[in-house]
Amino acid sequence: MSTAARVETITESSLEEAAALIRAGQLVAFPTETVYGLGADATNDQAVARIFEAKARPQFNPLIVHVRDLKQANCHTVFDETATRLSAKFWPGALTFVLPRRTGSNVSKLVSAGLDTVAVRSPAHPAACRLLELAKCPVAAPSANRSGYLSPTTADHVVEDLGEAITLVLDGGPCSIGVESTIIDLSTKPPSLLRLGGIPSEEIEAELGPLQLAGSETILAPGMLANHYAPATPIRLNAQHCQADEALLAFGPNPVVGAKVTENLSPKGNLVEAAGNLFTMLHTLDVEGCTTIATMSVPEYGLGLAINDRLRRAASGRR
Ligand code: AMP
Ligand code: MG
Repeated sequence: MSTAARVETITESSLEEAAALIRAGQLVAFPTETVYGLGADATNDQAVARIFEAKARPQFNPLIVHVRDLKQANCHTVFDETATRLSAKFWPGALTFVLPRRTGSNVSKLVSAGLDTVAVRSPAHPAACRLLELAKCPVAAPSANRSGYLSPTTADHVVEDLGEAITLVLDGGPCSIGVESTIIDLSTKPPSLLRLGGIPSEEIEAELGPLQLAGSETILAPGMLANHYAPATPIRLNAQHCQADEALLAFGPNPVVGAKVTENLSPKGNLVEAAGNLFTMLHTLDVEGCTTIATMSVPEYGLGLAINDRLRRAASGRR
């Protein structure tokens, strides 16, 4: 039985508790200056999968990773000269950078939905800053609302929408900005604006010159991002048998036999575990030199919907 979330005002002890929950792989809603975020340890696949479960998102779209500072951002992304210059002006604050993922970063591949970029932001809200300091890990946090609902700007909004799905909501009062962060993609040349938000685009253009706003599709349906990861190896869905030159992405206690190499999303048949493993295992199988990656069917409910969506798009060559 799920119970309503506990709401705590911001104190050093509630922040410590929230940080401990995050380190233990749980979800915590916390205030930022933009909107309330639904936070999880960005390096923990299962914790990140719980975010998608709580938001009931039918697709995996990439999440923003919240960091303490430029130094932590640079551990997980290639924080280039442009990012450094912009961060000097706008961080901490409502500006998110999409940057190439740093080789060796332990950020979950599910955070970036398998892309080779990571979105990073250093929030200015004192409670968010302290939480990031205490948690010690980077914190993946989309807006703390169910998919398709409005972004929450008070703790009450979070409780109304997600109260059953999380244990703790830190109440920092209304968000001062109240709209999401501006997102700028610095992984492309030239950079482009992915989302309008808390920092006016003119202020960024004053630094970088005129910017292209990415297609409206990206804004309306982030899960449909044109550059979503798809493996180079062709995908074959709903495998009931396997050839010796195929790789198998299995699910559940009775994997199909006969493949050259098998990765099992969840031998127990747990969809949260499966979602957490999806991108890492696809990457692993993609470099095995097999003719095909055969995938077993995953149930069409809960996170199974998002897993199947991703596999279908990978299979049809749609990224
Ligand atoms: P939210 O966390 O609810 O503010 O939404 C996060 C937004 O960040 C998503 O809509 C994505 O479009 C965007 N985003 C996060 N990571 C990436 C990335 N690696 N590449 C492109 N867009 C990203
Ligand atoms: Mg959102």
